[in-house]
Amino acid sequence: MGLLSEGSPLSWEETKALADHVREHGVNQFINLYHRLKSRQGDVLKWGDEVEYIIVKFDDDKQVARVALKAKDLLAKLNEKELADPKGVKSLWRPEYGAYMIEGTPGKPFGGLMAHFNLVEANMRYRREEVTELLASDECVMSITNFPRLGAPNFTYPLCQPHPEDPTSAARSLYFPDEAIFPGHPRFKTLTRNIRMRRGEKVSIKLKVFKDVNTKLPVEGAPPGEPDVVLLDAMGFGMGCCCLQLTFQACNITEARRLYDQLAPLCPIMLALSAASPIYRGYLTESDCRWNVISSSVDCRNEEERGLLPLQNSKFRIAKSRYDSIDSYLSPEGAKYNDVPLTYDENVYKRLIDGGIDHLLAQHVAHLFIRDTVSLFSEKVNQDDNEDTDHFENIQSTNWQTMRFKPPPPNSSIGWRVEFRPCEAQISDFENAAIVCFVVLLTRVILSYQLNFLTPISKVDENMQTAQKRDACRKERFWFRRSSKTTEQRAAAAATSTKAAVQEKDKEDKATTNGSNAPWSNGMPKLNGHGVNGMNGIGTNGIDSDHTDTDDEDNELFQLLTINEIFNGKPNVFPGLVPLIRSYLQSMEVDTDTHCTIEQYLRFIQKRAAGELVTTATWMREQVLSHPDYKQDSVVSERINYDLLKRIQSIQQGKHVEPALLGQGNHSKTKDFIPPALQKQLAKNGCCEDK
Ligand code: ADP
Ligand code: MG
Ligand code: MG
Repeated sequence: MGLLSEGSPLSWEETKALADHVREHGVNQFINLYHRLKSRQGDVLKWGDEVEYIIVKFDDDKQVARVALKAKDLLAKLNEKELADPKGVKSLWRPEYGAYMIEGTPGKPFGGLMAHFNLVEANMRYRREEVTELLASDECVMSITNFPRLGAPNFTYPLCQPHPEDPTSAARSLYFPDEAIFPGHPRFKTLTRNIRMRRGEKVSIKLKVFKDVNTKLPVEGAPPGEPDVVLLDAMGFGMGCCCLQLTFQACNITEARRLYDQLAPLCPIMLALSAASPIYRGYLTESDCRWNVISSSVDCRNEEERGLLPLQNSKFRIAKSRYDSIDSYLSPEGAKYNDVPLTYDENVYKRLIDGGIDHLLAQHVAHLFIRDTVSLFSEKVNQDDNEDTDHFENIQSTNWQTMRFKPPPPNSSIGWRVEFRPCEAQISDFENAAIVCFVVLLTRVILSYQLNFLTPISKVDENMQTAQKRDACRKERFWFRRSSKTTEQRAAAAATSTKAAVQEKDKEDKATTNGSNAPWSNGMPKLNGHGVNGMNGIGTNGIDSDHTDTDDEDNELFQLLTINEIFNGKPNVFPGLVPLIRSYLQSMEVDTDTHCTIEQYLRFIQKRAAGELVTTATWMREQVLSHPDYKQDSVVSERINYDLLKRIQSIQQGKHVEPALLGQGNHSKTKDFIPPALQKQLAKNGCCEDK
């Protein structure tokens, strides 16, 4: 999202009255943009990460750590460079929900060269340093998923108290003061207020406390009859968490739909692998991840929609919050795995169909559009549906799902993109870079080897819940599609189809001077002008081939696998994500430095999946449980919080090596992984060349 445009938010009553207006024009806008852009071809692979950060302030005398409510001032400074030279900066900074949060992305997306994998971590390190320079010596920018004592007494600096009875408060939370909501743009408070108003009451986030021998029940603030529940009551508890996202551009809409589908079943898997948030409001909980917390934190469904009251004033029962796992696949191959009934308005669906949208996309959009707008600005009410897309984006951008299918923005050079959204933020740049590069590589393998991960939506939903359980990465099993083809067979098939594509392309070039409608015009043969696949490019051919992963469709197609088996393989069941990537890399020419970096990342992922290294969540639990101040009562005291964050600070600075997290020093000296040649290139060019 770009710099947020300023404007005047409408009141909830005004917004509510315009819900159908936004829906109607949003749908028109989607139909129009679809027809403008559906045949867009030849976009090259571009990709980029988003990392969210929390600003922490330490008080070393009192040994407490708090969130520093200074994002607004900090962003003003961070954005100065961008405003002066929008194309030349190495990083971009955006506001996030919390007044203590910022989001950083690379200045430009990375591209289709293998060598770009070598820039990610250095760019992340640059971002951290850029912020650090603007902070006081007792402050620190941290890519932690949740601040452990968020919402516990006195967790902000400056100190602010919640005012639940104040009718002008947006959140009316018992724990999370409005001052902790980003004050620089009205969007965040408006969303907070409107979600609460639409729901008809405060949001309610329930987490089971981790029961230790001295855990006092009921937990402070527990709801009646649920003594073991840590109750959170504000949007900030979820949207105030940090995550790690990545976006990539597909060569055309078909490839985008396919990637959306293939990555959807991997969302819970990557969530489990990246689990990093076991502590909420100062309590150890049974959950390792933020997902359900955010989901409930923006759950604007009223009681009728949630099925607690008979439908009278509302249109539908709605199964999930607007922040949740995706509900349907978009590609033809995915259609048969759409096994969960989709809620949508038949009239909206029919308008999309009449507008020339196919069934799968129409039901996807119609389903997004069951939501009402929860944030509307007066300047944006009246729009030209042929040009603008704000009403579509209004609903799209407040459907926060595991995957997002992103149409090209109006009047831009940007193509169809897919966003991967489940991962939790990791402590170090090394870990974040490893996860990002791993997922991008996976997309290349999916396309080259025509991998098929499609799993019934109901099983993906089940996996989402499994992924969040305590230590799921080592202990749980996940539904996963069996695939007995070996990596060798896949590599051979991919090589054959590449050859066929090149021959086909030659024929086509002879037959016509204008090959721009050929599906491979972006293609593997001519990737980014950097040569064919197998040289140094990592594009795809964009060929709409049949899904060639023809494993038998027997009733054992879906099996329960551990994270270790999914990543490292299980004989005769699945070759493993990492071996598949390694096999793919063998067919690529990769420079030594990049190879070395990727290998470090793959080894790290393998070890974490195998349980040799633990997740951030498991490590944090262990830090708490072994702290001398811990009273076996599930409470993460101010002192424990302080020590934990101090430890994290020294890990991210590379001063402390934490073997359980990163191995024996192997992974923490990330400087070594950035080859000198690339460091020079970085210094010269900024992040990467925008082709
Ligand atoms: P969001 O809407 O999720 O906030 P952002 O605009 O913040 O998305 O961008 C997310 C990521 O997409 C950034 O890392 C950015 O570098 C990257 N990005 C920008 N342009 C493209 C593009 N054309 N293709 C793919 N990724 C891109
Ligand atoms: Mg963003
Ligand atoms: Mg994003």
